[in-house]
Amino acid sequence: MPIQKSSKIWLNGKFLDWDNAKIHVLTHTLHYGSGVFEGIRCYTTEKGPAIFRLKEHVRRLFDSAELLNIKIPYSQEEIFSAIVETVKINKMNSCYIRPIVYFGYGEIGLNTKPCKVDVAIAVWPWGAYLGEKALKEGIRMMISKQKRSFGYLNKAKITGNYYHSSLAKAEALDAGFEEALMLDDRGFVAEATGENIFLIKRNELITPKEGSILLGITRDSIMKIAKEIGMKVVEKDITKKELFSADEVFLTGTAAEVTPVKSVDSHKFDKPNKSLELQKKYFEIVNGKNKKYEKWLTFV
Ligand code: PMP
Repeated sequence: MPIQKSSKIWLNGKFLDWDNAKIHVLTHTLHYGSGVFEGIRCYTTEKGPAIFRLKEHVRRLFDSAELLNIKIPYSQEEIFSAIVETVKINKMNSCYIRPIVYFGYGEIGLNTKPCKVDVAIAVWPWGAYLGEKALKEGIRMMISKQKRSFGYLNKAKITGNYYHSSLAKAEALDAGFEEALMLDDRGFVAEATGENIFLIKRNELITPKEGSILLGITRDSIMKIAKEIGMKVVEKDITKKELFSADEVFLTGTAAEVTPVKSVDSHKFDKPNKSLELQKKYFEIVNGKNKKYEKWLTFV
């Protein structure tokens, strides 16, 4: 998925030309996987570009940093404004936004206390992560060999957490699937490589509870939307057997939005009727077509 360049990248309070936003090979986080980051989307609306749930993404960035003892040298308000400014200066309508906080150049070794903390924000145009067809028709998934270990660090969006996801994604693509599902080290359903998973069984929406997953902001949005349309929402440990007995399955994530799942391994699910209803509501909200949820949008 080649990155489409935009014009400027925010780095430590200054805008640099895209091609000049470079780091040294001895940047601490490059060696130890100790960065935290976010993935945020900005959508086109009738009132101009709008960033979806920016406050919550900035909060999660700071919560992730706190779990790794990273002291971000800016306030949440400053990072919030810097993100809005980066979208604005790049004249983006809809785009993906990637803030990253990392230990920079100057120290090596595992004591991060003396390390300098750098912050960068990049934005670029990005379409549907798993493709338009996936949004309409759904994807085929397989259960990966990679496991998500159960533990408190999963709720942080840490660069070093992603290697299992990359291996799982490669495993799935090599085997002819579009995505991988990871179980946790206790054998329960955890999440996909960059998405949370939901099951629908009759009028219940079921999703793995906290412990082996990233607490997705799309996940939170979908749970709220589902409650509003009268579904019962349950967060719990889910066995493979329970997954296979679901009527419908779908994934959520900033990048993948709301993507129906056609099958996991050889097990096929029903037509994604309810999933597509939730997807429709989600797209109405992110595109500024639902007044009630305008509070989730930051207009640029
Ligand atoms: N799980 C993982 C591992 C992810 O990388 C993501 C994407 N950030 C998600 C779930 C979904 O989170 P969100 O809805 O906040 O994008």
